[in-house]
Amino acid sequence: MAENKPDAENTDIKLQCRTCKKTIYWNDDYPFRPFCSERCQLIDLGEWASEGHKIPGSAPDFTDDSHS
Ligand SMILES: [Zn+2]
Repeated sequence: MAENKPDAENTDIKLQCRTCKKTIYWNDDYPFRPFCSERCQLIDLGEWASEGHKIPGSAPDFTDDSHS
């Protein structure tokens, strides 16, 4: 349904880098989108990890305290 056509009119979707809020475009000029650069991508990943977010499906669930 929401299929992106490879037409020029649809290839320059404007968005902001998630790290530095720089305006970028959703095209091949920005291979690290939604980040402006690899650096911003790594920064975002680093912050994401350091904040202790859980990665669904990759870690055991220790919230079940049913055993005693
Ligand atoms: Zn950036």
